Amino acid sequence: MNARMLRQCLKAAAASIIAAEPRLNALDSAIGDGDHGITMRLGFEAVRQRLDGLNESAAIDELLKESGSAFMEATGGAIGPLLGGMFIASGKALSQKTDMGPVELKLMLQAMETSITRMGRAKPGDKTILDAVHAACQSALGDEAQKIGEVCANAAVAAAEAAQMTASMLSSKGRSSKLGDRTLGHPDPGAVSFSLILEAFASCLREQVAL
Ligand code: ADP
Ligand code: MG
Repeated sequence: MNARMLRQCLKAAAASIIAAEPRLNALDSAIGDGDHGITMRLGFEAVRQRLDGLNESAAIDELLKESGSAFMEATGGAIGPLLGGMFIASGKALSQKTDMGPVELKLMLQAMETSITRMGRAKPGDKTILDAVHAACQSALGDEAQKIGEVCANAAVAAAEAAQMTASMLSSKGRSSKLGDRTLGHPDPGAVSFSLILEAFASCLREQVAL
């Protein structure tokens, strides 16, 4: 995938997150303060606007870094710096790249995992977005498929499964950690958001191949 396709994937992720606002708010109402959908929507509206303002020739690293900083600047809450930082880190990891294949997707997911682990200080199993990021990264690293679309689709499935599995975990990070047992049975909103982002990337890649 070249920079133009990445721009389309980022826009597809924005559309998917914006459409999921009510669902993400509802998930956060069960275990947090109910604002996750609003925050994600505001962040991705800012991403979309920033992408529209960037030159047609903007490179892969620039698209990722600009998306991350737009998200971070537009949002508060825990997720603002965490998700924004993940995109900025992935941009840094892909500097000078003019094309993204399976290797670059793996680099992107690894950079995202390293960034969120450093910033959020959570571990896999703490019921956070990291659970979905970690599962996606593990899936991609162990995936020998030659096409980025396939690796991305498999990683998206792994992230979605991991997000659902957070329902059986006790929260030990962020606002929801104060609710203890009451978080049981509810998936982590941030993990669901990340799986939606990857699913949007995967379906955008699928459409590009079909064209
Ligand atoms: P807030 O908790 O400030 O209201 P949001 O509702 O937007 O922020 O985001 C909540 C999400 O942030 C959680 O579902 C979780 O995935 C993520 N999160 C919170 N704290 C951490 C952390 N320390 N490490 C990783 N992710 C975290
Ligand atoms: Mg919240």
